[in-house]
Amino acid sequence: DPFGIHLSLKNLGIHSTNLGSSTGLTWLDSGASYFSSDSPADGQLIAQVQGASEDTYEAIISQASVAFEKWRLVPAPHRGEIVREIGNSLREVKADLGKLVSYEMGKSYQEGLGEVQEMIDICDFAVGLSRQLYGLTMHSERPGHRMYEQWHPLGIVGIISAFNFPVAVWSWNAALAWVCGDVCIWKPSEKAPLSGIACQYIVAKIFAKHGFPEGVSNLIIGDYRIGELISHDSRVPLVSATGSTRMGKLVGKAVGERLGRSLLELGGNNAIIITEHADLDMAIRGALFGAVGTAGQRCTTTRRLIIQANVYEEVKSRLATAYSKLVIGNPLDEKNHVGPLIDQDAVKNYLIAIERVKAEGGKAVVEGGVLAGSGFESGCYVKPAIYEAENHFEIVQHETFAPILYLIKYENLQEAIALQNGVPQGLSSAIMTTNMREAEAFLSVAGSDCGIANVNIGTSGAEIGGAFGGEKETGGGRESGSDSWKAYMRRQTNTINYSSQLPLAQGIKFDI
Ligand code: NAD
Repeated sequence: DPFGIHLSLKNLGIHSTNLGSSTGLTWLDSGASYFSSDSPADGQLIAQVQGASEDTYEAIISQASVAFEKWRLVPAPHRGEIVREIGNSLREVKADLGKLVSYEMGKSYQEGLGEVQEMIDICDFAVGLSRQLYGLTMHSERPGHRMYEQWHPLGIVGIISAFNFPVAVWSWNAALAWVCGDVCIWKPSEKAPLSGIACQYIVAKIFAKHGFPEGVSNLIIGDYRIGELISHDSRVPLVSATGSTRMGKLVGKAVGERLGRSLLELGGNNAIIITEHADLDMAIRGALFGAVGTAGQRCTTTRRLIIQANVYEEVKSRLATAYSKLVIGNPLDEKNHVGPLIDQDAVKNYLIAIERVKAEGGKAVVEGGVLAGSGFESGCYVKPAIYEAENHFEIVQHETFAPILYLIKYENLQEAIALQNGVPQGLSSAIMTTNMREAEAFLSVAGSDCGIANVNIGTSGAEIGGAFGGEKETGGGRESGSDSWKAYMRRQTNTINYSSQLPLAQGIKFDI
């Protein structure tokens, strides 16, 4: 155990295979089958985790409903105090949780730590928010009347999360939902269940210490079938789902049919426009980090570079040089730049995409391939690749969750913006330019159609202070900062008549 993984698991409370009770936490035995959590880093089985059944789902829903009755009555700033303690607890376990995330999901240790830092940051944000769940007051048109609006908790928030951010996305939702007075049922990705279990240990202790019911934070392990139970259940007024567009369409339909609310955070197909006025050192750094970070498995990964013809050849050759220096290997070893893909299926999809881009006429700038031999036993390590392509290629229109970058040439900015917008997804976008006119055109009403549009910063990653999400097939949801909290509450408009008259609307009179 050269990286101290077993010690980290122990520090996180994950050292027992027994179902049962531990501090503040009850495990339900569903009798259902187990999921294996294998590390893509070394192919080792980390643990087997029992999935939930319909019966356990029902038990969790009742537990959550009972908890909501109590939690909604706790004043919001007090709820914030609990979230403050959760943030502090995360500070204490940052190294251990970061390591588990890295080992279970395959992102670098540094990125694992970054993910836990995002959790800490959103807790801080939520603590402040707990005193700022403001509604507006309005001037009534009627004498002796007052009007205002207030925000009430919704109830149970269902959180369905993806494998690539196994913990941060949950915290973006849960920290906000809790200060808003909601309770949460979280179904983490079946590909990273242990990271979810670690988080449940961390928060359960804090709720228990303050005497709050366990059902304020619920974890349910399972695959899409448990996700379907959540999305069809009218006892879950909000379903926040992060994952592929394919999944989002199914969840959106199921929630829509019962007129519930969904918050969808789906796939991206993100581009950086590199203009002839770009600072090319910055552009190369931004593109490289965006394309190969997390082995191309971020929703905000840079998948397309749209490059002005005059700088195209220079960008292409500098990128090829930069790629030749990348070190691929175990994500827990800090000298490596690129870790593995999540599993063998992801490797298959990567290889299919490479075949397709070539079949459609794409040319290799940096050829891809699967790595074998010592250190690559899991079979999940692939070479980051670059292909010259056309935006209209079917494969370019599609999000392949792997480190494949497409280079596309353009002549004028209008054309570049049309190419950037010319995909079904609308998550993150960026322009690299030192020219103010180009930057403003890109951000204007006729510019990028994405939820995130950056200038001189790549597409990947985001600060928690802003609202995060995207348009079109990315699903339209916004979570994390700004006023995203409003999705987790219901708005109520109140009119109070403090006069002794009751004027009826539209001047209507009843002679009674
Ligand atoms: P996925 O769609 O395979 O699975 C995501 C989650 O949805 C899992 O928990 C899965 O069990 C569940 N699920 C699958 N089918 C379901 C169904 N029919 N009903 C209910 N739940 C269902 O995605 P993944 O491979 O884990 O993650 C990669 C994808 O997630 C990429 O497309 C990536 O862009 C996207 N993603 C988006 C964001 C964002 O904020 N926009 C963030 C992270 C990841």
